Amino acid sequence: MSENPTSSQVAEVAIIGAGPSGLTAATRLTKAGLKPVVFDLNAAPGGQVYRQVESPQADLRVTGIDYRLGQRVVEAFRRARVDYRPDSRVWWVQRVDAGFELGVLHEGRSAVWRARRLILCHGAMERPFPFPGWQLPGVMTAGAAQILLKQGGLLPEDAPILVGSGPLIYLLGWQYLQAGHPPTCILDLTPRLQWRLPLRQPGKAWHARGYLFKGLKMMLALKRAGVAIERDIEALEAIGDKVLEQIRYRQRGHWKQRPASLLLSHVGVMPETHLTRSLGLTHRWHAEQQSFLPVRDDTLSADENLWVVGDGAAIGGAVNAMREGTLSALEVIASYHGLTKKERHERDGLRRERARDLCARQLLDAMFLPSLNIDAMPEETIICRCEALTRGDLDQAISDGAEGPNQLKAFTRCGMGPCQGRQCSLNATLLLSRRLAQTPDQIGQWQIRPPVQTITLGELATSSMVENRVT
Ligand SMILES: Cc1cc2nc3c(=O)[nH]c(=O)nc-3n(C[C@H](O)[C@H](O)[C@H](O)COP(=O)(O)OP(=O)(O)OC[C@H]3O[C@@H](n4cnc5c(N)ncnc54)[C@H](O)[C@@H]3O)c2cc1C
Repeated sequence: MSENPTSSQVAEVAIIGAGPSGLTAATRLTKAGLKPVVFDLNAAPGGQVYRQVESPQADLRVTGIDYRLGQRVVEAFRRARVDYRPDSRVWWVQRVDAGFELGVLHEGRSAVWRARRLILCHGAMERPFPFPGWQLPGVMTAGAAQILLKQGGLLPEDAPILVGSGPLIYLLGWQYLQAGHPPTCILDLTPRLQWRLPLRQPGKAWHARGYLFKGLKMMLALKRAGVAIERDIEALEAIGDKVLEQIRYRQRGHWKQRPASLLLSHVGVMPETHLTRSLGLTHRWHAEQQSFLPVRDDTLSADENLWVVGDGAAIGGAVNAMREGTLSALEVIASYHGLTKKERHERDGLRRERARDLCARQLLDAMFLPSLNIDAMPEETIICRCEALTRGDLDQAISDGAEGPNQLKAFTRCGMGPCQGRQCSLNATLLLSRRLAQTPDQIGQWQIRPPVQTITLGELATSSMVENRVT
């Protein structure tokens, strides 16, 4: 593809993602006279948190007043008249001598884009949370249910049960309550000791007070509305013949059972690393966030002319994502012609605010540290949903000699299905780490190859790089 560059389109700066980080990065670059191109697989700007924020149907009573901030960010982005390409899926990215090449799928056609500088603003995904029966119809993630709510105002017919740990569980419960459809109950997996951390770390709690009060307000509203909040949940099973019928859970050593038709599960979010891994960036295990994070320097750069910002780099929340987006834009501006005194002042202020906010984040990470014990999962628990591989299957392959993620993949096909390992990669690494008594960093993750997003053979055939080869 590099031999015939004529068919590729060229951008000064390419930005992948139009969530808070991508929007602020693009707006700031444009203000400085640069011409970034923003690709996003969604049809409208806003990312995960401000999904459908421009829609007249966006109801702030349901989504929360934080959406106002999202509206302002999107309005500023629209005013800046950025070259914005919605419905554009970046399915591969690679480094070339002069910068980066991207494969972008839009309306069924794939094009090659070249950019000297690249800002990855691709966001997070929910941490996969396997338990027996999580593959049954009637069980889905809280994040997916929230997408349906934000995207189409869809509410579940039956009151759901929410289970897991992390702010999103309470936020979604509260959003359903605001929409007049409260959940039946919330089963909280957060260990009791972790709830007490704000009392033990008052300094961090002060920095995190905004988040803590918001969470407390939601919990009180749910309690007042009669939503049962059950704590100290230690294990969970979804039961049903063809669809979810019952859930079983262990609370303080006792098993309980209750009928259920919709179970929404969630144990936090983690950076989506397919793009950063396919670029060959170094990743390190972050014990507090229980995930692999791309390594960045103080300027948020992960490699020459490459910045990774927002929740795709480390979970920091929407406001942090906006700061990082602007900071990355200032670094790009600096790489062209240095910064003016005013710009340096802006950068230093943002850096200070970011450092303060990251202090609050440390407390939230510790409070919602997921207690995922892969050993405690029954061996029939499915780990790789695409290939229907259980923990027992993976254990067997490890006993047969699989010494690392790539070998485990070769032995079992784990991670080779349509989700490309998004649902099993982390748990495969954690299982190997336990069994082989090595750290997640020593085990690593399997290699990522394009396509990093699904693409059909027909769409691939439209690619300009294929046309170049044929002619
Ligand atoms: C399911 C889910 C729900 C969440 N809900 C909330 C919430 O309600 N409130 C809250 O405060 N926080 C929420 N978060 C956390 C929230 O996502 C972040 O704090 C914030 O949105 C991070 O902003 P960002 O710019 O880093 O990424 P995002 O907002 O996630 O934006 C990333 C964008 O990149 C696009 N993208 C990713 N990969 C590609 C690709 N290959 N090609 C093209 N485009 C791509 C995505 O479509 C997305 O629009 C949620 C996270 C998840 C995973």
